Amino acid sequence: MAKEITVSGVRPTGRQHLGNYFGAVINFVKMQEHFNGYFFVADYHSLTTHPKAADLAANVKQIVVEYLACGVDPNKCTLYLQSAVPQIPELYLVFNMFAYLGELERSATFKEKVRDQPDNVNAGLLTYPVLMAVDILVHKAAKVPVGKDQQQHLEMTRDFAKRFNHTYGVDYFPEPEAFSYETSLVSIPSLDGVGKMSKSKGENTCIYLADDADSLRKKMMKAKTADSPTAPNSPKPIEIQNLFDLMQLVSSAETNAFFHEKWNDTTIRYGDFKKQLGEDMGTYLAPIREKIEKLSANDKLLNEIINDGGSKARQNATQTLKDVREIIGIKSY
Ligand code: AMP
Repeated sequence: MAKEITVSGVRPTGRQHLGNYFGAVINFVKMQEHFNGYFFVADYHSLTTHPKAADLAANVKQIVVEYLACGVDPNKCTLYLQSAVPQIPELYLVFNMFAYLGELERSATFKEKVRDQPDNVNAGLLTYPVLMAVDILVHKAAKVPVGKDQQQHLEMTRDFAKRFNHTYGVDYFPEPEAFSYETSLVSIPSLDGVGKMSKSKGENTCIYLADDADSLRKKMMKAKTADSPTAPNSPKPIEIQNLFDLMQLVSSAETNAFFHEKWNDTTIRYGDFKKQLGEDMGTYLAPIREKIEKLSANDKLLNEIINDGGSKARQNATQTLKDVREIIGIKSY
């Protein structure tokens, strides 16, 4: 039986953080064993903020290196750059006809961007969910490993696919679903206690995969806490719950149990708690960081991987576009 297809990507807007890792990349690594995986660097998506050319190129390389360092294996999946597949912008044009202004304006991410960057509300931001839908549909994927922040975009992807199928009376595009090996989609919190960890929020709010042990320790010591508990078994304020959530990901069961007990009997000392978390974070990320350093120096290997992945992704996308042109009545001459 043919393997199920999965697609996902990360924007090259900076180094990857724990949110990218636990929300997306850790799933790529598991999924490549059982799925036909297409994992890409979403370079077109990052153009909405007009990066300098040299910065974009450096960030693209960084994401590729980090994928590999985390265990994404080009022999088990297709690893490529979005911009290496010209069928994506072509299909994006077609799908823009199936996306309505009202629903695009209602997207939570769009509203957030309008709030955060009022001077740069460009059309690319508005139609971001269409491009994302096309990234997925061009490979006719069934499952999409993403963090919780992308759930609404996946719903829109399904709507666009349904509309296309319905309009042309075909059953061509599958309706893909968001996927995680956890019981629900993951959301890794920001270290300032407000919202999710995000590349756009600044250095001290993110744990980057490439951070060294010293900066991890320092960042964790600066992480936001709250008042100490005054009564046994108190509910945890959000800032503290966030730190316990991070501990759950990187520390041993004994360490987790120890600090939960300290919280519950009110003897917790935040200095000790954050110091332990900083150290465990360093231990957890050390093998990834070492691989990042090694791979960064090997441009030849990186170029080979990207070239090879690009041609595999194009091959699959070419068939989709051939079918779509036929379905919509555009002849290929
Ligand atoms: P981006 O960096 O926005 O391109 O996101 C790439 C992937 O990382 C997407 O699948 C996101 O859902 C996921 N992601 C980004 N930030 C977080 C976070 N704080 N928690 C969980 N997943 C995240």
